[in-house]
Amino acid sequence: MRVLVVEDEARLAGTLRDLLEMDGYAADVCHDGEAGLDNALSGIYDVVLLDVMLPKMDGFTVLRKLRQGGSAVPVLMLTARSELSDRVEGLDSGADYYLTKPFEPKELLACVRALTRRQPELRGDGALSCGDLRLEKSSFTLSCGERSVRLSRKEFDIMEQLMINRRQILAKETLLLKIWGYESDAEDNNVEVYISFLRKKLSHLRSQVKIKTIRMVGYCLEGGE
Ligand code: CA
Repeated sequence: MRVLVVEDEARLAGTLRDLLEMDGYAADVCHDGEAGLDNALSGIYDVVLLDVMLPKMDGFTVLRKLRQGGSAVPVLMLTARSELSDRVEGLDSGADYYLTKPFEPKELLACVRALTRRQPELRGDGALSCGDLRLEKSSFTLSCGERSVRLSRKEFDIMEQLMINRRQILAKETLLLKIWGYESDAEDNNVEVYISFLRKKLSHLRSQVKIKTIRMVGYCLEGGE
């Protein structure tokens, strides 16, 4: 799962990223409101942590524009101010949760977990299934009947995205951003390489589910109904 941190205080932003990464999330950081809005609108994030006082565009405006842009991504507002009026404004502009600085790391992680739990197929634990396939997060295994294989981290992340989005075509670009992130210099063919690893594993498992390539667009799962 991928979290966007929009926070202009570099030290706090770094701490938040470290915390999230230690808890198993991928995290990207933006230091101003405009960049934060652009990234949040990309649709690749599962949760956005949004500071209120930000350069270029304040957090409330970012949030309003995000909702106007049709994004339903869960947003956790962070602010040093604890006045009631701020909280009300945050909730009015579409925030899902409000956390006042300074906060305990445990409290923050609990909020992030609560927000990701709202999306039923994005649970942090348990398994995903599609057709005869079962993907287990705790052990990174993909199984079909009696057969099972262990996946690498990237293979797991790609398979998870394909299963979560199984009713739609997943663009190669979206996979690249969701799994490698903005700051990486991974290229399109990284995705192809991992897709080919996954296809080998699916055929070893003798699954009915196949990864179909939609030329020039991306991938989708087939045979999972
Ligand atoms: Ca700030």
